[in-house]
Amino acid sequence: MHTQPELPYSKDALAPYISEKTMDYHYGKHHKGYFDKLNALIKGTKHETETLETIVKSSEGAIFNNAAQAWNHILYWDSMSPKMAQSPVGDLLSAIERDFGTVDKLKAEFTEAALNTFGSGWAWLVLDPHGKLVVVSTSNAHNPLEMPGTKSLLACDVWEHAYYLDTQNNRASYLEHFWQVCNWESVHQKLQDET
Ligand code: MN
Repeated sequence: MHTQPELPYSKDALAPYISEKTMDYHYGKHHKGYFDKLNALIKGTKHETETLETIVKSSEGAIFNNAAQAWNHILYWDSMSPKMAQSPVGDLLSAIERDFGTVDKLKAEFTEAALNTFGSGWAWLVLDPHGKLVVVSTSNAHNPLEMPGTKSLLACDVWEHAYYLDTQNNRASYLEHFWQVCNWESVHQKLQDET
């Protein structure tokens, strides 16, 4: 059985950028729902004793969708922090300048990937198999675990349920909010864990 991890902060901690109401539904209903459905679906199958990552890499259909969404949101919660208006520093800043030129250029590319994701999906900052920082976009539940040798550092959920209560259909406004609460400290830690 897979247990939904605790949120790393309180549900009102990201307000006013991400409201308590959004967190209440997003964490309490949507994310919880993926775990509940996954646990029901894997009962009695070969996936019953596998880790979330292994299930994502070895399943398809409803089991894949629920396992991937369970995994994606764990990184998403960790991609935001109540410690607002952070900036990349040190090794992370150097790697961003090496691969994007400036932090603003990275943000612009990531934002464009998020805005251009048609329908539901995700924007990611990943470390590719060559050690380069790259922005990628995925549809629905798909994620970088499906890209061999790729490590996910930052995730932004662009399903409408992530922002509709706060900014209605305005995904661009949500992205502005996301940058206000972006957890660069966590990105930095994940990069250091890999290098
Ligand atoms: Mn979501």
